[in-house]
Parts: sequence; structure tokens; C-alpha cells
Amino acid sequence: MKKIVICGSTGSIGTQALEIIAADPTIQIVGLTAGSRWEACVEQAREHGVSTIVLDDPQAAESARQNWSGSVLNGQTGIESMICDSDADLVLNAIVGAGGLGATIVSLGEGIDLALANKESLVIGGDLVMALAEGSGARIIPVDSEHSAVAQLLAAAGPGSAERITLTASGGPFRGRSDLAGITRDEALAHPTWSMGGKISIDSATMMNKGLELIEAHHLFDLDYDDLSVVVHPQSIVHALVSMNDGATLAHLGYPDMRVPISYAIHFPERADVPVPSLDLALAGELTFEEPDLETFRCLPLAIDAGRRGGTAPCVLNAANEVAVDAFLEQRISFEMIAEVVARTLAEAETVSELSHFTEVLDCDAESRERAAEIIAREVPA
Ligand code: NDP
Ligand code: MG
Repeated sequence: MKKIVICGSTGSIGTQALEIIAADPTIQIVGLTAGSRWEACVEQAREHGVSTIVLDDPQAAESARQNWSGSVLNGQTGIESMICDSDADLVLNAIVGAGGLGATIVSLGEGIDLALANKESLVIGGDLVMALAEGSGARIIPVDSEHSAVAQLLAAAGPGSAERITLTASGGPFRGRSDLAGITRDEALAHPTWSMGGKISIDSATMMNKGLELIEAHHLFDLDYDDLSVVVHPQSIVHALVSMNDGATLAHLGYPDMRVPISYAIHFPERADVPVPSLDLALAGELTFEEPDLETFRCLPLAIDAGRRGGTAPCVLNAANEVAVDAFLEQRISFEMIAEVVARTLAEAETVSELSHFTEVLDCDAESRERAAEIIAREVPA
């Protein structure tokens, strides 16, 4: 029996993971975590026979305790002790945002394999996260569809070396536009090919998501930014390309459905049945590819530049983006302001070139959030 902890179980990735696990009697869930939605988390625990849950929010944890007889922990220390005591073989980290770093650190530190959806962990602390995994021998199995595709291609490539990785991007709902003025929250949340949580949907609309993914790929696959590229592919059928040293380029294809990479990560190194039709290329029709528009979608070049600078720059970028995306979702700033807040926060921050401890990552994250919030407050007085 494979034992698994699911962090962020109430979200888009988390609920799809539960659906996959429910169909597999060889996997036992030994812990669930959520942010504040305690009712949903308790219901999942009841349904899947889980005895311990962790809620980030202390009040939510208190409500859960009053309504459920299982063990309810809270906050980062709760996640830490639950994972340490869980005897898990795998942790799926599907928490959104920098708040997911703690689950990544404790899992890898304990030598537990990590199915990683929380790309922000690698964006803000990639060098330290990869070193932690190497030190403990724990594997990081990417859940992000493009990175799962790359990992599968590399595993299938055999001897030789990958010289270039290309991530595909759908281009989001505003592909083809050269003016992003007047975009509403609902328009930005309506992704054309993927159904996802709110934050990543906005990141896809600004193309920040692809920037975060380049930084994620740089760490996961140890390639320089010169050897990583993005191509816009609106149909989202090709997920990634790996170009080998002998001139061959391998591609990973399939209908856009997150259950495929989630199942791959959960069952790794095996594969399990997923009720997704196999690809019919004639039915899929035309597959098109184009260069990303770096002038309109400023978040992408901002992320590439921060990735190249390294050190604290990606952490500043990520923190500013999280604050700006929240403000946009709360309708306090315009869609165009997201990139502006990120650019100004990066310009105002003193970035250092190397991070030697996770506490420095957390400090940089906190400072950058404050700076981004001040920039928003200056722009939009309360
Ligand atoms: P959702 O917003 O749908 O879910 C987020 C989950 O994290 C929820 O369970 C939420 O709990 C929990 N959570 C939120 N804040 C905190 C916190 N501070 N501490 C602990 N838990 C918290 O996100 P997604 O499932 O869309 O995305 C999760 C991660 O996966 C992100 O990093 C995203 O980039 C990545 N990803 C997602 C894809 C997708 O298709 N959705 C595709 C590729 C990557 P609660 O419900 O209580 O708020
Ligand atoms: Mg992705």
C-alpha cells in the first residue's frame, strides 16, 4: 500500500488527485491539508477515511475540531508534524503560492518523494530546494503538465543529452490582443483550454505562469535560460519539446487534462489507467505555433529576466505577482497593473545574487509583499 499526503486537497489539483486515488485501492491517503475551507477538507477526510488534517487558518482548524472527531492541526508547524509522523511514501504539494514552500521543505528534508504542483516553491527557493532533494535522496516528480511532459520525454530519450527544452503556452484568453486595457476579472478567469484555480488562471492570462514555469524548468532540468524557450500553441495538445544532441526533437502530446500528469506523478514510476481518450490527431485538427508577444505580455520577460538574475530576484517577482493578482481578483487594481506592480517592486528591491538559507527566502518574500502592497496603496489610495 502506497501512503500519500495531499497538501492543498480542496483545490483544483487536490480534488482531481482525490478522484484518481479513489479509483486506486493500492493507495492510502494518510493526511490532507487546506487553507481555510475546513468543511470541504473534513468532508474529504470522512469520504477517504483520513484521520489527520491540517488547516492553515487557526479559526478554521478550531471549527473543524468542533465538528469532527479526527485529529486537526494547524499552520506550518501542523503541516510539519503531520508529514513527519505520517510515514508517507509520497507528498503531493498542491498548495497555491509561496505558502507551499514549507510543505516542500519538510517533505524533501524527511527524504519523502514529492509530487510537486506548487511551482512557486521552485521559483522562490529553487537552488535550495534542489540541494535539499539531492542531499536527502528524495525525488521531485513534477505535476505541472509541461514539466511532467519533459520528465517523461527525458526518461524515454535514452542515453544522450537534452540540449534544449521548449515549453508550450496556450497564450491564455487574451492571445492576439495588443491592448490589455479594460479586462475584467471574469474575462481573465476564463481560460480557453485548462480549468484551474483562480491564481494560476490569472497567471496564465498575464503569461506570468509561463515565466514561472521557465524558472521551474531551469531548476528541475538544470538547463541555462539560453536553452529554454516558450512557444505559443493555442490548442494545448503538444505539452513540451525536448531537443536532443543528435538533432532529434521529442514531443509529448495529449488532450489538455491535468489528471494525466497528476496520475503520472502519483503512480511514478508506474502508470495507471486514466479515463482520458487517446489522442486523435485528425480530430484535433490544426495545431498552430507562434512566438509569444513579449511587448504586450510584460510578465513573461520580467520573469525571464528575474530568472537570469537568480538569487532573490525570482522571489521578489513571485511575491509581487501574488500580491498584485490578489488585488486584481479583489478588483482593486486593473489587469494591466499586475505587470506594473511586479516591475516596480523588482526595480525598488535590492536583490542579492545568492540565497544560503530558507529563512532568507521567507524574509525576502515577506519584504517584497510589503513593498508590492505599498506600491498598490500609492496607486490606489484606500
Ligand atoms: P487552488 O486555488 O484551486 O487550490 C489551492 C489549494 O491550496 C487549496 O486546497 C487551498 O485551500 C490551499 N491553500 C491556499 N492557501 C494556502 C495556505 N496559505 N496554506 C495552506 N494551504 C493553502 O489552486 P490550484 O489547484 O489551481 O493550484 C495549486 C498549485 O498547482 C499552484 O501552485 C499552481 O500553480 C499549480 N498548478 C495548477 C494547475 C491547475 O490545473 N490547477 C496546473 C499546473 C500547476 P482552501 O481551499 O482552504 O483555500
Ligand atoms: Mg503548466
